[in-house]
Amino acid sequence: MKLLQVLDAAIAGVDLTVEAGVFLLSQTEPEAIESIRMAADAFRQMLCGETVTYVVNRNLNFTNICEQHCHFCAFRRDAGDPDSFWLDQAQLQEKAAAAWAEGATELCIQGGLNPQAKHNGRSLDYYLDLVAALKDAFPGLHLHAFSPQEIEFIAREDQLSFRDVIIALKDTGVGSLPGTAAEILDDQIRRQICPEKLKAATWLEIVSTAHHLGLPTTSTMLCGHIETPLHQVQHLAQIRQLQQQAIAEGKPAKITEFILLPFVGQAAPQVLRKKVGRDQPDLQKTLLLTAVARLFLGKWIINHQPSWVKLGLGGATTALRWGCNDLGGTLMEEHITTMAGAQGGTCLTVSQLRTAIASVDRLPAERTTLYQDRHSRRGSSADMI
Ligand code: SF4
Repeated sequence: MKLLQVLDAAIAGVDLTVEAGVFLLSQTEPEAIESIRMAADAFRQMLCGETVTYVVNRNLNFTNICEQHCHFCAFRRDAGDPDSFWLDQAQLQEKAAAAWAEGATELCIQGGLNPQAKHNGRSLDYYLDLVAALKDAFPGLHLHAFSPQEIEFIAREDQLSFRDVIIALKDTGVGSLPGTAAEILDDQIRRQICPEKLKAATWLEIVSTAHHLGLPTTSTMLCGHIETPLHQVQHLAQIRQLQQQAIAEGKPAKITEFILLPFVGQAAPQVLRKKVGRDQPDLQKTLLLTAVARLFLGKWIINHQPSWVKLGLGGATTALRWGCNDLGGTLMEEHITTMAGAQGGTCLTVSQLRTAIASVDRLPAERTTLYQDRHSRRGSSADMI
C-alpha cells in the first residue's frame, strides 16, 4: 500500500478500507505522519473552510450514583458514599438559570445509572420530570441529554422499548442525544473495560433508533487504553456505516459530530490503569488518530472535535491542525473527566476559546448544538453543515 495513494484517495472522497485505516495508523516516520496531518488538514479545509466553531453550554451531571463499575470511571459512587450526590430540582434549576444568564444555548445532561430514580415502578418519570421542569423554565435552552447507556437503563428498568423511551424524552423536550458510552465498539474490549455496559450492537441500535425518530446524536470513541489500531478503525467503520445508513434511508436525523476522547487514568480504578501504564493521553498518538478519523469518516461526518478537557486547551488547539473544525463547549462545570485526573480544567470562557482558535489563524464562530449559527437561533436557520 502506498501512503500518498491512500491519502489522495481519501481527499478525493473515496471511503478508505479498514486495512487502509490501520496502514495509516501504523506509520511511524515523521515525514509520513506529517503527510497524514497535512492531508487531514487539507480535507478539513475542503469540507469546513477556515471556521472553527464552539458552543456556549453547561454540563449538568445530575447524579454520580451509578449501578455500574466501568474500569475507566472515577466519577461513579455508591448511594451512601460521603461524596455521592443527586441534585434536586431546585439545584438543577439554579444551575440552568446560571447557564442561561451566561448566554448558554445548551445544557448537556448526563448522570450515573441511579436505581433510586425508580418511583412507583417507573424510572422514566424521573427523567421526564427533570426534562419537563428545565424545558418549562428555559424553553430557549437546547437539552442535549442522556447517552445510549442511559436510554438502555431506563428501558431495562421499566421494561419499555428503546423507541418508547426515546419518543417520550423527545416529546418532553430532549433535543439530541450525546453519543457517549460508545467507548470502543467491540464486545471483547468492552468486557475488559466496562463489562456491565450495553453491548456494541445495542449502542448502534439505540443511536439508529434515535435517528429514525428524528433525534440527532453525536458520536465518540474512548481511545488510548487497551484497544489496538484495528479496534480503533473498526470502531470508525461502524460509526461511518451508521451515518451512511441514516442518509441512505432518509432518516430525519443523523450524527452531528465525532469526538475523540483519550483515556485519562490518573484517578481511575487500578485494574485498567495498570494495564495501560499511563495516566495522561499520549498527545502524538491522539493527534495521529484525530487525523485518521477525519480521513476515514470522509464526507460522512463533517464536524470533528477534540476534547480540551482531556488534552488541555493547548493539545486541543493543536488538534485543529490535525483535521478538527470545532473546539467543543464552555462546559462551565466538568466533573466526569476531571475526577479521573484530567488536567484540562472544568470550564473555559468564550474569550479563551476564541483566542485559542485565532492563535492557529482560524475564524471563531459560535454555533448551536446542531451546528447552526448561534445568532440564527431566534431568527432564520442558516445551517452551517
Ligand atoms: S462511565 Fe457511566 S455507566 Fe460507567 S460507571 Fe461511570 S457513571 Fe456509571
